[in-house]
Amino acid sequence: MKYRLALFLFTLSITAAYSWGFFAHQRINRQAVFSLPPEMIVFFKKHIVYITEKAVNPDKRRYAVEGEAPRHYIDVDVYDKYFNDSAVYKMPRFWSEAVAMFSEDTLQAYGIVPWHVERMRYRLTDAFRRKDAREILRLSADIGHYIADANVPLHTTENYNGQLTGQRGIHGLWESRLPELFFDDYDLWVGKAEYIDKPQLHIWQGVVLAHEAVDSVFAFERKATEMLPPDKKYSFIERNGITVRTYSYDFCELFHRLLAGQVERRLRASIKMVADFWFTCWVDAGQPDLRELLDFEFTPEELEQMKKEEEEWEKAPKVPVRPHEAYRQAAPSGMPAYAHACPHNALF
Ligand SMILES: [Zn+2]
Repeated sequence: MKYRLALFLFTLSITAAYSWGFFAHQRINRQAVFSLPPEMIVFFKKHIVYITEKAVNPDKRRYAVEGEAPRHYIDVDVYDKYFNDSAVYKMPRFWSEAVAMFSEDTLQAYGIVPWHVERMRYRLTDAFRRKDAREILRLSADIGHYIADANVPLHTTENYNGQLTGQRGIHGLWESRLPELFFDDYDLWVGKAEYIDKPQLHIWQGVVLAHEAVDSVFAFERKATEMLPPDKKYSFIERNGITVRTYSYDFCELFHRLLAGQVERRLRASIKMVADFWFTCWVDAGQPDLRELLDFEFTPEELEQMKKEEEEWEKAPKVPVRPHEAYRQAAPSGMPAYAHACPHNALF
């Protein structure tokens, strides 16, 4: 009895605290490098460890850097009432138009990922133009992260962790646990990078496809729950001496099977889009000769500095970046009065 009580008290629920999971983000950036043309790959491959490792920096700094959190998602369905329809097809694609319609506070409250990708695209194009190796690498790693987030279904809905439908924990399950478990089965070669004619519409197309998958994410989780005996959905594991509740392998396997390749499709879409954006920025910058940058290396001091900075970020308290109250006045009528400030760390 005592043991049971202790088990109950110490049973923490876990879910990955990051978008796409650290694992998937790193794989997406890494795999995108191989889709680049020879003129680019020569430089990117040399720094593939950096591009891979730094893919997770935007998540690491989400609590430490003011304004970081909303760059990772857009709760596009909170605007449905405003449009009397699916807002994802009707939201203004350009930042200035969106600000004019909803105000910047509101947009920040519900997430800005597609518009932030566009901002990053300008910066990366500029870095290529200046042949600034440091910035090319930093911004390429960063934009890869945000593009990948825009392709995740649960980054496009206010029910981002199933908290509105009794499915709490689904966020980390879909984007961290499933890719980690089944990654080896995926075919992630997406072909060669292609030029994007209308980048701002293109990133929105990623959001549209991700959002169209939201219903099936929830429906199949529900179906998998019904198909398994109740005591088989979760299992308990020991982690650092604490008993932690997690989704069982059987549940993950069943949910993944019901999703019929959805996680793999979104991963492939992310990789392709990351490569296409990198390539487009390079072309728009006039196809600078990256062989001139081959001598570039980060200095040991710079590497040390980066390490320190990342440690500082991770020390930041895991609290909402801004209080929900701040958004109350910003919400247009018919929309929820607040938004989530930290979408990926919600526990069961
Ligand atoms: Zn993220």
